[in-house]
Amino acid sequence: QWINFTGFFNKIIDRFEMTKKQHVTFNRQLPEQPLYVDIDTDKITQVLDNIISNALKYSPEGGEVTFKIDILKEHLQISVQDQGVGIPQDSVKKIFERFYRVDKARTRKLGGTGLGLAIAKEMIHAHEGDIWASSREGRGTTIYFTIPYTEDQEDEWE
Ligand code: ATP
Ligand code: MG
Repeated sequence: QWINFTGFFNKIIDRFEMTKKQHVTFNRQLPEQPLYVDIDTDKITQVLDNIISNALKYSPEGGEVTFKIDILKEHLQISVQDQGVGIPQDSVKKIFERFYRVDKARTRKLGGTGLGLAIAKEMIHAHEGDIWASSREGRGTTIYFTIPYTEDQEDEWE
C-alpha cells in the first residue's frame, strides 16, 4: 500500500511510548512533511516492532532511544539508536543470522528466540532495501534500514 511513512512510523513509536515500562526517553528526529512509500505495512510493522523492542530490551534505565528518518536520493534511511550494552565488533554482522544471540547468559534472562532480525532482514530485502547495524560495546547500538523512495512526482507537474 501507498502510505505516509512519517505518520506510520510516529504511530508505531507512540504505541511503544505508551506501553513501555522502563524510564527510557524517546527522541524523534523525523521530517515534518509526509513521505509517501509503497510498502507492506504489516511486514514493516513487524520489522520496526522487533528493532524497537530490542532497543528497549538492551537499554539502561534513564537511557535514550533516538528515531530518525533521513531522505537519501532514492531511499528513506530509518534508524533506531539506543544507549544500551552494545554488541562486540565481531558479532555485529552476525545478529542478522537466524538464532544468533550475542551472549547466551544475558539473552536467556531477557528472552527471545534470536529470529527477529533474521526475519527483519528478509522483509527489508523483499522491499529492495538494506539493513545493517553499527555498535560500540558499552555505548550503544544503532540499527539502520532503507526502503525505496522517490521524491513527490507532483514537483514535475509544476
Ligand atoms: P527475538 O527477536 O526472536 O525475540 P532476539 O531479540 O534475541 O529474539 P534478534 O532480534 O534477532 O533476536 O537479535 C539477535 C541478537 O542481537 C540479540 O539476541 C542480541 O544479542 C543482539 N541485539 C539485537 N539488538 C540489540 C541491541 N539494540 N542492543 C544490543 N544487542 C542487540
Ligand atoms: Mg528481537
